[in-house]
Amino acid sequence: MTLKDTDPQIYELIEAEKQRRKDGLEMIPSENHTSPAVLEALGSILTDKYSEGYPGKRYYGGNQYIDEVEKLAIARAKQAFGVPHVNVQPYSGSPANFAVYLATCKIGDPIMGQNLPDGGHLTHGWKANWSGLWYKSIPYHVQKDGYIDFDEVRALAREHKPKLIWCGATAYVREFPFEEFSQIAQEVGAYFAADIAHIAGLVIAQAHKSPVPFAHIVTTTTHKTLRGPRGALIMVTEKGLQKDPELAEKIDRAVFPMGVQGGPHNHQTAAIAVALQEAMQPEFKEYGHQIVKNAKVLASALIEQGLTLVSGGTDNHMMLVDLTSGGKGRGVFAQEALDLAGITLNKNTIPGDPSSPFYPSGIRLGTPAVTTRGMKEKEMKLIAEWIAQVVLEIEDYKLPDTKEERIQYLKQFRKDIAGNEVIQNIKQQITEFCKKFPIP
Ligand SMILES: *Cc1c(COP(=O)(O)O)cnc(C)c1O
Repeated sequence: MTLKDTDPQIYELIEAEKQRRKDGLEMIPSENHTSPAVLEALGSILTDKYSEGYPGKRYYGGNQYIDEVEKLAIARAKQAFGVPHVNVQPYSGSPANFAVYLATCKIGDPIMGQNLPDGGHLTHGWKANWSGLWYKSIPYHVQKDGYIDFDEVRALAREHKPKLIWCGATAYVREFPFEEFSQIAQEVGAYFAADIAHIAGLVIAQAHKSPVPFAHIVTTTTHKTLRGPRGALIMVTEKGLQKDPELAEKIDRAVFPMGVQGGPHNHQTAAIAVALQEAMQPEFKEYGHQIVKNAKVLASALIEQGLTLVSGGTDNHMMLVDLTSGGKGRGVFAQEALDLAGITLNKNTIPGDPSSPFYPSGIRLGTPAVTTRGMKEKEMKLIAEWIAQVVLEIEDYKLPDTKEERIQYLKQFRKDIAGNEVIQNIKQQITEFCKKFPIP
């Protein structure tokens, strides 16, 4: 019996999502299309097994094959990134970062990370997250030009003597200055953790500088540019072991049993191993470089079409469009109109955003998923034209000041764009265009 027979409701929803992804362009920079091999491992019976603990040290029997799967995933991750220790069990990026705090800090210790509205991640000390509630968070910011304000980082680190400094972000278009961070961490005696969730695939492909020579700890998700299943890795570098010879054991203990996890997700571990193997092939190196080439071409084309980009371009897979020339808080209009047109991206804050994270003034988009489908420079120029046309269509919409007005206004906005012929026409063109670029 197949899923279609036993549970047609879920089956139909999966098919509908498949169709949505086929007919449109996925441009959320943290998303990708995984390979059939990754999906096969992820959908395997390994999900049935309990294996709390680590290879050779399990609390349950019958783990002889699970041990081999986890050992392979570890060996491949070590090879792919060039590190001496890896934990492959974190359920996802946020729990991985949680384990880093458990391993390196006590509750209430000062920590530093990039401010969330400036592109940082929730788990780097944002006030609404446990990392900001349980630790003394000292956020650093980016300058108006989109680069990290390193004078501020240095001054704050010297003043507050943080236990842990994060470098890494969810919305940052420039190369991360790992070397500068490592110097300041060294000076104040902090652990330096690089969170490369977004750029891990670029790092393996050597399309972005590696943090491994500079950081003590490196965390990453496995489902973004790395193109694996949802999951995460925590790596300890040679430099980390020099700072603290027990760091590897501390990390492992922080993941299990100290942290938020019980039994590892073995199907996920297997799929991570498959993705890492794929990422070490020559084709993946090409893929990583093509992601960046595509992003640079797309960025220039968007600027040519009259849009304003934060920092004036990109070094990686991602760009941020600043929509404030038409008023603040307009990201929501662009996100919804583009979604209707078949381009999925997300509203996002921009440096010094005059609005709020819920009604931010920009949109964030990236090239990892469209590059997986085989799109190149020529296609990026077409995509830029479509984006610019849609943004022009919604030019006159301004975000009202009060909550009540906003709800009414957005209702009307949705009605308007649903009947907008230019947007409908672009949607048709995109659906047609997408047929030439099948999802793996
Ligand atoms: C995506 C991301 C994470 C968290 O990943 P989840 O798997 O969604 O928990 C952590 N850090 C950064 C910088 C990210 O971009």
